[in-house]
Amino acid sequence: MTRENDSKDQFSRAMVVIAHPDDAEWGCSGSVAKWCRLGWDVVYVLCTDGSKGTDDRDISSEQLVQIRETEQRKAGTALGLKDVVFLGYPDGYLEPSLDVRRDISREIRRWKPDVLITTSPNRDLAGSNYIGHPDHFAAGEAALSAVFPSARDHLTFPELLHEENLQPHKVGEVWVMSYGDDANFWNPLEEGDIERSIAALKSHVSQISNPEEAGNWMKKRRAALGKQIGSEYAESFRKFKLN
Ligand SMILES: [Zn+2]
Repeated sequence: MTRENDSKDQFSRAMVVIAHPDDAEWGCSGSVAKWCRLGWDVVYVLCTDGSKGTDDRDISSEQLVQIRETEQRKAGTALGLKDVVFLGYPDGYLEPSLDVRRDISREIRRWKPDVLITTSPNRDLAGSNYIGHPDHFAAGEAALSAVFPSARDHLTFPELLHEENLQPHKVGEVWVMSYGDDANFWNPLEEGDIERSIAALKSHVSQISNPEEAGNWMKKRRAALGKQIGSEYAESFRKFKLN
């Protein structure tokens, strides 16, 4: 099947780099569920602590960090993730700084992903009614810069090699989450992948006012994307194969 990820036989490790708890559940959790079903090792790297995402004035930032970490770990269990790494930068203030880039490079060298998924570094003003979150662009920019060239060059962030003994690593493919015109790859998904991804989404109780509605919306969106390739469900990405 040509529309299938044609590298799946040799690939077995993936990493998802996002800004906040729940970003991956909205953007790529069907693909993550599929990889876990196929026996891949999948790791999430969360750049921020999620400390700003509430309207509830009775919850402190510190409480929210704990709540959202617990929710993200629960979602990870529903999907079958190998691990969830929290870099801990403050929510809402993320910049694609060298510190963030080095921290993501460290995780890439540690986990050696074949495929890395992240959010788009670009604000898409033509795509939808959603203007986008600055942390998502920053996480995407830092992740792409970590993939190329920081994680693969031994002379960049040399402390990773000399102090932490982390060898350079070349990522095979990057998939940027995309629902707009720039998508060039639709990953076909099965019913079970969708069910597990929705269960993961529903773990983010503090972020979703109506879990049933959210789950149904997500299922419909993935069904519409699947239709574009003759599959029951799909998620779309801008995919890059790196040499
Ligand atoms: Zn987010």
